[in-house]
Amino acid sequence: MRVAVFSTKPYDRRFLEAANEKHGHELEFFAAEFNANTAPLAADFPAVCIFVNDNADAKALEIIASRGTKLLALRSAGFNHVDLQKAADLGLTVLRVPAYSPYAVAEHAVGLILTLNRKIHRAYNRVREGNFALEGLMGFDIHDRTVGVIGTGKIGQIFGNLMQGFGCQILAYDLYPNAEYAASGAKYVDLPELFANSDIISLHCPLTPETYHIINDWAIEQMKHGVMLINTSRGALVNTEAVIAGLKSGKIGYLGLDVYEQEENLFFEDLSTEIIQDDVFQRLLTFPNVIVTGHQAFFTEEAVRNICETTLSNVSDFEQGITSKNEVKAPQKAAAK
Ligand code: NAD
Repeated sequence: MRVAVFSTKPYDRRFLEAANEKHGHELEFFAAEFNANTAPLAADFPAVCIFVNDNADAKALEIIASRGTKLLALRSAGFNHVDLQKAADLGLTVLRVPAYSPYAVAEHAVGLILTLNRKIHRAYNRVREGNFALEGLMGFDIHDRTVGVIGTGKIGQIFGNLMQGFGCQILAYDLYPNAEYAASGAKYVDLPELFANSDIISLHCPLTPETYHIINDWAIEQMKHGVMLINTSRGALVNTEAVIAGLKSGKIGYLGLDVYEQEENLFFEDLSTEIIQDDVFQRLLTFPNVIVTGHQAFFTEEAVRNICETTLSNVSDFEQGITSKNEVKAPQKAAAK
């Protein structure tokens, strides 16, 4: 099948080409992001393949559907960047990669916690400048701390297990609590209880209208003074202005972000010689107790290989008319969400 593959970096191309050896699709790579302006590049491609910060809004979908596209293949688990209702109306099938390596994201979240706590980012710079002073580098034992996990799906559960390995108690919150996970020692509580009792809070739920800005002024107000907040899920779960206020007051003692609400203007590009215009983002970077990584939590060899293999299997299934369990439908048409 001819596939227009957007937002491709050299590593995407390498892994997609390797995975394609057993599928034999005709892949055309575009470095450009997918949006309404670039959608005409996909004219006459029956399949379009996009990544997390592409924008498959109504206008972009109308353009590709009018030029013959039938399949939108997502190289991601999340689908908040796709207008699913419009896709359904246009008869476009949307397939995603529901799981590729939940370990990658969970392990990155733990990496952010360890780095923030023991100030490894600051120690790294100090030692390179011949400064071996310890003042300002004191951390805390993670052992015996309480960790709040919001969203106990694949990634949230693995993250919780890793933190249990450190000797932490797990407080969990999910719209659909998982009895098996509860049996492993995690305690499901409501959000106010999780906020009030957690030393570390990590977000692992999807971005939906219900979870948009789930971390807001009210939520921060409920939290322990000096709480550590980790977001490796989606940027808009967090109201950035609210966390900046929380950091200034000391209510938030540590902040680790792999995602940011306006990240599509920044992440995945080398902007090191540009003037960054996003003042809110730049303010975040001024805090010594904030670490931001550029949406790299997924970025392990295993995960990228799995993403590419599942994406091309999805394309093959579609081509062969096989109904895929990886199809994403507009909420009102989904049997279960
Ligand atoms: P998953 O579907 O297995 O789990 C998500 C969990 O969130 C489910 O248990 C679901 O019931 C729960 N949930 C849904 N709505 C909720 C709500 N309103 N409140 C509380 N919980 C709710 O997904 P996953 O594979 O564990 O991925 C979790 C998220 O991680 C994804 O949605 C994606 O946004 C993010 N992610 C980030 C990266 C990265 O590189 N940073 C990579 C992959 C996934």
